[in-house]
Amino acid sequence: MIIVMNPKCSKSDLKSVIKKIEDLGLRAHTIVGVERTVIGAVGDERGKDMLQDLEMLPSVDKVLPILKPYKLASREFKKESSIVKIGQAKFGHGHFGIIAGPCSVETEKQIIDTAMKVKKAGAKMLRGGAFKPRTSPYAFQGLEEKGLKLLAKARQETGLPFVTEVINPEDVELVGEYSDMLQIGARNVQNFPLLRRVGKYGKPVLLKRGLATTIQEYLMSAEYVLSEGCKDLILCERGIRTFETSTRNTLDLSAIPVVQELSHLPIVVDPSHATGTRKFVAPMCLAAMACGADGLLIEVHNDPQKALCDGPQSLDPKDFGALMKKLAQMSKVSGKKL
Ligand code: PEP
Ligand code: MN
Repeated sequence: MIIVMNPKCSKSDLKSVIKKIEDLGLRAHTIVGVERTVIGAVGDERGKDMLQDLEMLPSVDKVLPILKPYKLASREFKKESSIVKIGQAKFGHGHFGIIAGPCSVETEKQIIDTAMKVKKAGAKMLRGGAFKPRTSPYAFQGLEEKGLKLLAKARQETGLPFVTEVINPEDVELVGEYSDMLQIGARNVQNFPLLRRVGKYGKPVLLKRGLATTIQEYLMSAEYVLSEGCKDLILCERGIRTFETSTRNTLDLSAIPVVQELSHLPIVVDPSHATGTRKFVAPMCLAAMACGADGLLIEVHNDPQKALCDGPQSLDPKDFGALMKKLAQMSKVSGKKL
């Protein structure tokens, strides 16, 4: 339910309404807007009818149901598009953020060299996996904590904040201690204990769409993260599994406007995992900007031929630089701020 407060309500009115919501065993998520404050009351749906009585308070204007099954993620709850800021990187509400870096952290030289090059080309955030969810148990699984330390070093050298994946609920504290944003990978989109744990941790979260997740299921996963208190959540369309085999996955660009209609959350596109092929990455980046995405997550490796993971879909720094120039041109017509 959404509790719309009277524009003249005081701080103590707000506090007492929040207390009433919490006394019903529900959680209160407050958005202080320019014109008015609204509270989203979520939790066990059986307490819903009791909330209606709050409408009798002079400090409350209206109590409205949120019709969508995802509540805090919905546009019904928050009409204005959200902006997520991490260092200099901004996503959403017209801001187009670029995250770039290798699939996985391999060596100090590799991550620092790549970080310096993507920064020079204009990326505002670094990516790199330290814990890798690989299809084969015999494939490179990542450097784990050593990888996190190298990412922190790359941040120190370049000033770029970084996002890295966490695959295990027990590692959330460890990964969160080093990183600026926690990534939940496609395979874990419905790992509910993991979603809850990262939501509770409090740092920004990048939540990837699963290989076979409908948009509604995807937004329900986002709801798990938000319902635990996370304030900064970015969605990421990274391709879904279809009958088509020419590309690694099928990039569902129509998900961008659909999600933006249903939700206030920023959504970025990952053309690297979507296409699986370097030469298709740039056209899909431009298409993502054209269809209104809020940013990109791109794999860039300083020497893709030697990459331990996802080399064929990784851009080299030169191609990434050329792509950034095209995006800068495109931003003039798309109205997105790079
Ligand atoms: C990644 O971004 O490194 C990754 C593993 O992607 P996905 O979860 O989308 O497959
Ligand atoms: Mn990868």
